[in-house]
Amino acid sequence: MSREPATMTCPTCRKRAAFRDNPFRPFCSERCRLIDLGKWASGAYGIPGEPVGPEHLAGTDDAHDEA
Ligand SMILES: [Zn+2]
Repeated sequence: MSREPATMTCPTCRKRAAFRDNPFRPFCSERCRLIDLGKWASGAYGIPGEPVGPEHLAGTDDAHDEA
């Protein structure tokens, strides 16, 4: 038999949220889920990532000033 708790604590906002029938668990809502994803994307959790160099920004031809 499963002993799932009826509620759990949202990792983002620390509020109690429904566990069952919650498509966003372990978060309380889509908002908190996206916030957590944002943390990962922004490196808040210390994920090593490629540093963005100047060449990454040179995607346009706006730098041409010799017209
Ligand atoms: Zn939440």
